[in-house]
Amino acid sequence: MLLKHMLRVNITVLALLLACAALVSCDSAKPNQAESARIRTKLEAIPLDQKVQFTNDEWKYILTGCQYYVLRRRGTELPFANAYWHTHEKGIYFCAACGNPLFSSDAKYDSGTGWPSFWQPIGGDAVSAASHSSFSGGTEIMCARCGSHLGHVFDDGPRPSGLRYCMNSAALKFVKAVGN
Ligand code: FE
Repeated sequence: MLLKHMLRVNITVLALLLACAALVSCDSAKPNQAESARIRTKLEAIPLDQKVQFTNDEWKYILTGCQYYVLRRRGTELPFANAYWHTHEKGIYFCAACGNPLFSSDAKYDSGTGWPSFWQPIGGDAVSAASHSSFSGGTEIMCARCGSHLGHVFDDGPRPSGLRYCMNSAALKFVKAVGN
C-alpha cells in the first residue's frame, strides 16, 4: 500500500517535472525574438548624437553571424567577395551595428583591393582610430558611436587626404540616395 502510494507520488512529481521542462523549452524559443525586439527598440531610442554601449551578448541578438564576426570580433571578410567592393551608386554607408552614418559614396574610390575603400569619413567624428598600428601596417578604425570594428586606414590613398579607409562590407549598410 505504501509502495503504491510512493509510486503514485513519484509519477506525479515526474509529470510535473516534464511539464516544467516543456514550459522552459517553449520559453527559450520565444525570448530570443522578444529579446531581439527589446534590444532593437532600445537602440532605436538612443539619439544619433549619443554613444551606444551594448555588451557583445546584446549585439548577438541583433547582428547576423557575419556582422558579429566583423564588427564585434574584429574579423575581416574576403576581398572581391563582399557586398560593396564594387558598388558605385550614390548614397550613404551606415554602421551596420548602430546606424551611424560613416561614409558618403562621394569619397568612395576603386582601390583595387577588393574591399570598399574611401578617402575620408562622412564627418570628423564619424569614426575613431586606434592609438597604434596593427600588424597589417594600417590603423584600426571603429564606429565612433558604438565602438564596433569597421576596418583599417592606410596612408596610401588618393589625394586630397592621401588616406585609404579599407572597410568591411559586413560592417556597413548602404542606403541609396533618393533619385539614384
Ligand atoms: Fe556603430
